[in-house]
Parts: sequence; structure tokens; C-alpha cells
Amino acid sequence: MRRKRVIGNWKMNGSLAANRALLEELLPQLAVLEGVELAVCPPFPYLAQVAARLEGSGVALGAQNLNVADKGAFTGEVGAGMLRELGCHYVLVGHSERRSLYGEGDEVVAEKFATALRAGLVPVLCVGETQAQRRQGQTEQVVSAQLQAVLRRSGVQGLAAGLIAYEPVWAIGTGETASPEQAQAVHRHIRALLAQHDPVQAEAMPILYGGSVKADNAAALFAQPDIDGGLIGGASLEAAAFAAICQAA
Ligand code: 13P
Repeated sequence: MRRKRVIGNWKMNGSLAANRALLEELLPQLAVLEGVELAVCPPFPYLAQVAARLEGSGVALGAQNLNVADKGAFTGEVGAGMLRELGCHYVLVGHSERRSLYGEGDEVVAEKFATALRAGLVPVLCVGETQAQRRQGQTEQVVSAQLQAVLRRSGVQGLAAGLIAYEPVWAIGTGETASPEQAQAVHRHIRALLAQHDPVQAEAMPILYGGSVKADNAAALFAQPDIDGGLIGGASLEAAAFAAICQAA
């Protein structure tokens, strides 16, 4: 039986004051939840603030990106060891915004995934198709290629040490969520692809859904047999909404 997980991706949002207020309202509501693994991923400058506030809460910390190098002359970049030192457990890799806005291709994403594993972080591999790719019937092909790059680099054992988040690009921040059936179909495809490499690991693999998950659609999505929780953007910035989504998991 796979445990449900809900991870909040704050993206480039927050401030010292807003983070304090959000966590003050949110954490007491999450403290009563059992059997769900929870995490939030704030922007880099707030990792230390949020880490201090999360201590003893049972909610884990994650980062939104990392560099493949440990250290050196890479102005503006952040290494995996730094994330570990600040208390990160998770790190997102291959988010569609990184892929589309910052030119991260499948090979770079696979390298980041491997780097995170080496550092002892749990990488959350984000995959998903654009609207155009879905219309052209390429969803499974696109998602498979994104997974294959990581499988080639880290093997199925490596991939299974992380998490997968299926985030259809057309559903991110648009308010247009995939239907539970649409999401389930892709999640089943992902699990079937992993099963070709290792059926036991495939069965144990947590596959989260992301893309306009809200308090009122979370339960139906999370009830699907291959959906193991959610990666939440906008709604993770509102305490009531995020708490309700976590409760639905
Ligand atoms: P929204 O929940 O705002 O659609 O964002 C999803 C996402 O990109 C999480 O990583």
C-alpha cells in the first residue's frame, strides 16, 4: 500500500511575513493528519526560515531546483549539498517551468536527478505534455521519453529512490485540471512503463498528480488507483485550501 503524499510548490512566491503567517495558520491544521507525507518547497532565500518553522511539525522541506555541480564558479546557482545543509529532504527536478522557461532538456533533468540522489536528496521528477502534444496524441510518448532519460542515467533503482509527479503543462496554473480519468490513464501508463523494468519497484513508486489541484477536486483525483497524492502550486499558498487538499489525501 503506497502512502499518500502532498507537496506544496510555492514557486517564486512568498515573503518573510507571508511565509510566517501561512505556516502559522497551516501547521496546526496539518498536525492532526495521520498517514500522509507532507512537504513544502519555498524559494531558496526562505529555506532556512521555513526549515526552522517546520522543525518538529512532521512536514518536510523541499527545494525547487538545484545545479548539477557541487560548488564553483556558477553565479546564481545552488548546489545539492547546500540544500541538504539547510534541511531539504526533497528537490523538484524537471518542472515544466524549468523546462520551458529555462531550457532544461531531458538530459539536464536526468543529470539533476542523479545529482540529487548522490547528495541524499529525494528528487521529485516532474513530467507532462503540453496542450499541443496532447491534441496530437503524443502524451504517452512525451512522458515516456522524459522518464526514459532518467532511467538511462540512474536506472530503475535510482528512479525508484525518488518520486514522480505527472503535471500536464496545460493544467498548470490554468484552473483547467485533468479529469481524474485523464490523470489516471497517464499514471497507469507511467507505472506500466516502470513495470517493464521492475514490477516490484513500479508497484511501490509514488506518482503524484499536479496541475490546478484545488480543495474541491483533490479527493476525486486522489481516489484514483494510481494517483498517490499531489504536487500543489497556487493552492499551496492558501492555508485553508492546502490543508483541505492534504485532508483529502
Ligand atoms: P498549480 O497547482 O498552480 O496549477 O501548479 C501546479 C504545479 O506546477 C506544481 O508544481
